[in-house]
Amino acid sequence: MTQTYDTIVIGAGVMGASLAFHFAERGLKVAVLERKVTASGATGHSSGLVRMHYDLAAESELTFASYKNYFNNWKERVGGDCGFMQTGFMQIAKREHEDKLRGNVANQQRIGINTSVISAADVKKLIPDFITDQFDFAAYEPDSGYADATLTTNSFLESAKHNGAKLIQNCEVTAIHTAGGKVIGVGTTQGDLASPIVVNAAGPWAKHVASLAGVDVPLETWTHDVAFLHRPPSLGKIPAVIDDTINCYFRPEGSALILAAGEDESLRGEAPDAEDQTPTPTFVEKLIDSLVRRIPKIEESGLHSIHVGRDGITPDQRAIYSASGLDGFYLACGLSGTGFKTSPAAGASLVELILDGVPKTVDITPFRFERFANGQLLEGEYGYGNIWK
Ligand SMILES: Cc1cc2nc3c(=O)[nH]c(=O)nc-3n(C[C@H](O)[C@H](O)[C@H](O)COP(=O)(O)OP(=O)(O)OC[C@H]3O[C@@H](n4cnc5c(N)ncnc54)[C@H](O)[C@@H]3O)c2cc1C
Repeated sequence: MTQTYDTIVIGAGVMGASLAFHFAERGLKVAVLERKVTASGATGHSSGLVRMHYDLAAESELTFASYKNYFNNWKERVGGDCGFMQTGFMQIAKREHEDKLRGNVANQQRIGINTSVISAADVKKLIPDFITDQFDFAAYEPDSGYADATLTTNSFLESAKHNGAKLIQNCEVTAIHTAGGKVIGVGTTQGDLASPIVVNAAGPWAKHVASLAGVDVPLETWTHDVAFLHRPPSLGKIPAVIDDTINCYFRPEGSALILAAGEDESLRGEAPDAEDQTPTPTFVEKLIDSLVRRIPKIEESGLHSIHVGRDGITPDQRAIYSASGLDGFYLACGLSGTGFKTSPAAGASLVELILDGVPKTVDITPFRFERFANGQLLEGEYGYGNIWK
């Protein structure tokens, strides 16, 4: 007999897990279908930065709500652990972006985010190991840091299961069933399941999953190399940093390692299932050359390991949290290499949109699917340009 659910979530990455948590909290009978195992997609390779500096206010609002209501209050709000480490965060800006940096920080302060513009001299006082002569200003967020994306996913799912959700792993969705112009369920490698609501949270596979419902989502894949370096023993404390002057980001990884990656070397359009553990040939060399310009002590470091992750990316490099045009079929995809930190509030808001017709946690209507068809791509008020070159 076909099992029936109030809602089906396709994909058990952090986005699907957040959706499942919020659906189950509202008392819905939810099934999360995962073709492999939890966090086996983009989420399992996420760098986990939790920062609030964006050039699009809607993204800052999503991260702020995620930080305030979830990451900073995980045990009480969700239960379990998300591994949040409050290291502080710095956005180091190019000199020509000073006005934009100031504009974005002012917008973020209006949202309620604890952020300010600090001078290069202030950066040096905070982090004496940094060279600070290639920039004048940075934004500094003392509350931000990083979290563990796999832990976050699993604790969302544990809590959802506690509230009655069913997680079915090794279960690939192979068909989306419709009748009378509405979704009625899915076909999977473990049989058919019925539901009037199906959400596509299939990460880099979301374009294919949407096509099963006849919906064409403008998604390609984005493949990103991440290095783990041994922390030089003499290096003092460092925060999480996005450094636009050297096109890199980095952060501590526990007490022994530094996680670092570039912003301008990602491959586009690989097959979602393409082999994903070979970094681009110049990755490490270029990364180290860049990092030593900020932290000379990196010379004393050594490579620990590299991993390669893949996410789905949209033409404006912003997510889609939206109805799809097909009644009952929703999109939570295209998180564009930046959707971990926003997933708690994005999940809450999309569940509100689906069940109540209006998102209350954060207004996610800017992330509607129709923006692509209408040529209304998202752009920040004080835009820095695309995050990923
Ligand atoms: C290397 C890397 C570093 C990143 N760093 C950061 C960061 O520092 N901060 C930040 O905020 N964001 C970061 N991101 C982005 C963030 O991690 C992703 O946006 C987020 O994890 C995507 O989650 P997801 O649940 O949408 O997708 P995924 O984690 O990819 O989950 C999708 C799931 O769907 C499953 N699936 C696919 N097809 C089917 C099917 N047909 N049937 C059933 N299941 C299916 C897959 O197996 C997968 O488990 C990074 C991403 C990468 C790759």
